[in-house]
Amino acid sequence: MTSDRVRLRPEIESIVPYRQGRTAAEDAFKLSSNENPYPPLPAVLNAIALSSVNRYPEASAAALRYRIGEKFGVSPEQVQVGAGSVSVIAQLISAASAPGDEVVYAWRSFEAYPLLVATAGSTSIQVPLTADARHDLPAMAAAITDRTRAVIVCSPNNPTSTVVTHDEFAAFMAEVPPHVLVLLDEAYAEFVTDPDAVRGERVIHEYPNLVVLRTFSKAYGLAGLRVGYAVGPEYVMDAARAVAIPLSVTEPAQRAALASLENEPELLDRVRELAALRDEVTRGLADIGWSIPTPQGNFVWLPTGEHTARAAEIFESYGIIVRALGEGVRVSIGEHEAVEKLLRAAAEVVSLHQTAASTSGLD
Ligand SMILES: *Cc1c(COP(=O)(O)O)cnc(C)c1O
Repeated sequence: MTSDRVRLRPEIESIVPYRQGRTAAEDAFKLSSNENPYPPLPAVLNAIALSSVNRYPEASAAALRYRIGEKFGVSPEQVQVGAGSVSVIAQLISAASAPGDEVVYAWRSFEAYPLLVATAGSTSIQVPLTADARHDLPAMAAAITDRTRAVIVCSPNNPTSTVVTHDEFAAFMAEVPPHVLVLLDEAYAEFVTDPDAVRGERVIHEYPNLVVLRTFSKAYGLAGLRVGYAVGPEYVMDAARAVAIPLSVTEPAQRAALASLENEPELLDRVRELAALRDEVTRGLADIGWSIPTPQGNFVWLPTGEHTARAAEIFESYGIIVRALGEGVRVSIGEHEAVEKLLRAAAEVVSLHQTAASTSGLD
């Protein structure tokens, strides 16, 4: 008992801190963080330039909440804005889940979830994805116990890019007790082209225990400004506001988000191009022998299994930085010019599998 070390929470000390996607060499394509390759619109840059950064921002982001409320057909009180939607997810988890409580989510899914649950002192219940890298919603519903305070559904799922369908979600919600908070994390909603996919705008009015999360980081290209939001019941949003760190959504972020909503058609044209490029990449991957889950985000998932570390190195040797995550690599859809290199690297990765006994993830 003579340790000189400060006493920290053991469950926090055992966490490996969040690692950012690799930064790329000058001439490499950084396809490791699902960022938007397009520069900001001039209107967005102008809006940022108008900020009075010697003053604190408007704390409640009222104008932005009003505008988001209009988009979803809800009141501004039913909207919570945070410094990235990750911040809002953190607020909701700590508002709902205490030490000893449980939060259920799919695994593999977004790397931040285990950290946010541990920070709240709560216990993660990770429900394995199906063999085709999709949420196993019946198993997730079955994992709910008396101690469950929240369930996170990620559609499209990061990193596998697969969606939950509307019907699957409806069947799932019918099984979830009304006192359990459901977080539908739709960070990539704008890239979804599958008409059967669940959509926050449609389901938000149907379930009193549902919160939908969206971000300006991906489709709107504002990752560096940190702004995202939740839409849900007013009392739940109030609880998120109660635990939020005050004034963390800056004025440039609020202004840029508003300008982005004002210029949404132009931004959504870019999103459509990225989704088309994703589908082109998917066809290219199929041509060289990859059978991957149908991607609906701005990224694709290659189930490289035991070859994951080597696969990431191969991509890097072609000037493509990817994210290696346990049993696969996630590759963002970015610059058009990256596609040829991406497919050449993926073809070399295929040969790893063909020389190995295991051909999982491949036809
Ligand atoms: C990127 C991402 C977010 C949100 O990121 P912020 O930049 O914090 O808004 C949320 N969920 C998932 C699954 C993501 O991939």
